[in-house]
Amino acid sequence: MSDGICQGQTELFFPPFGEQADARAAREAVAASICGECPVTEECRSYARHHREQGFWGGENDEQRVEARRRSSARRAAGPAAAAVGRG
Ligand code: SF4
Repeated sequence: MSDGICQGQTELFFPPFGEQADARAAREAVAASICGECPVTEECRSYARHHREQGFWGGENDEQRVEARRRSSARRAAGPAAAAVGRG
């Protein structure tokens, strides 16, 4: 986390109470652009998925992270061959 380039910009990565959809989309677009330049995006995304974090981490918002975990679980449940197809 110390290598992340978002330090000091917490307000872009976590929503204020009562945030409206348009404001959220705008905030997350800025956060995504920062994550896109970050040297630890993959590590950050993996950490957030594993620890079920909330907010914008590694280029993903809450819904995207839940969907990624769901896809990963489905691949594991389908077996090793299906899991291999999902890689790459
Ligand atoms: S990937 Fe995004 S949220 Fe994670 S450390 Fe980097 S800038 Fe911060």
